[in-house]
Amino acid sequence: MALRAAHTPITHQHPHIHSTTRKIPKVFNVYQSTVHEETSELKQSPEDYQVNCEAWRFGVETNTLRSWNVVPPECVEYVKNYMIGSGSQYVRDSNMVANESIAYVNSLQLSGDGKDAWVFDVDETLISTLPYFAAHQFGGEVIAEDDFNVKWLDRAVAPALPASHKLYARLLELGFKIFLLTGRRHCQRNVTERNLVRAGYHSWEALFLREPEDRAKSAVVYKSERRLKIEQNGFRIRGNSGDQWSDLTGYSVGDRTFKLPNPMYYVA
Ligand SMILES: [Mg+2]
Repeated sequence: MALRAAHTPITHQHPHIHSTTRKIPKVFNVYQSTVHEETSELKQSPEDYQVNCEAWRFGVETNTLRSWNVVPPECVEYVKNYMIGSGSQYVRDSNMVANESIAYVNSLQLSGDGKDAWVFDVDETLISTLPYFAAHQFGGEVIAEDDFNVKWLDRAVAPALPASHKLYARLLELGFKIFLLTGRRHCQRNVTERNLVRAGYHSWEALFLREPEDRAKSAVVYKSERRLKIEQNGFRIRGNSGDQWSDLTGYSVGDRTFKLPNPMYYVA
């Protein structure tokens, strides 16, 4: 706490709150850049948009903002810069997550009975659809599923996320059993396997995809059910990595969850 000068009147108010009838700014709406509604001279400043988009991304990454469809138009440039800008913030954040995951893995007492398991999501966790999204406003436009499947997913060319690949390799080294759990459909098994192998992944225990009976389920329910099945087969899920909160919530989530960054799209 800051020291007050002896002559400063004692008050119970915060020193920055004046007792005059100053209007309290409204809580801002992250979609509409209205941080300082009464102070019109600040309304249009680039800094406001910057602050807004950072707040928007914070909301996305903390599971505060949910069920959003596209990146707000005023934040497309911000997301582009986050993903591929010179500061490589996306790469830095991904590395932070992988490094923390590896530190946690290294600290574990492993049983050696072959039952220690790790669950990975696939897209934006092990491999990256960034090349596709870079051609589609970095999430600023609605993606047509058919277009995404035919022009991107079926080509099996998604590159590995290097940070996650490092974690994956360490887990194999330690004898973990690795389970891949994706929201991709069962008919996409071959292209998914081909893509994963091409990106340098191998030796997973199982790859789960949505079966026809999973079609109507939310990602949280579908993924929870599969993880429960893994546990019922005697495995201990020591960790769980995903870019969506629907990868990491529900039940049987694992001893620890690791959230990878993804400000480009939301999966319920
Ligand atoms: Mg994903």
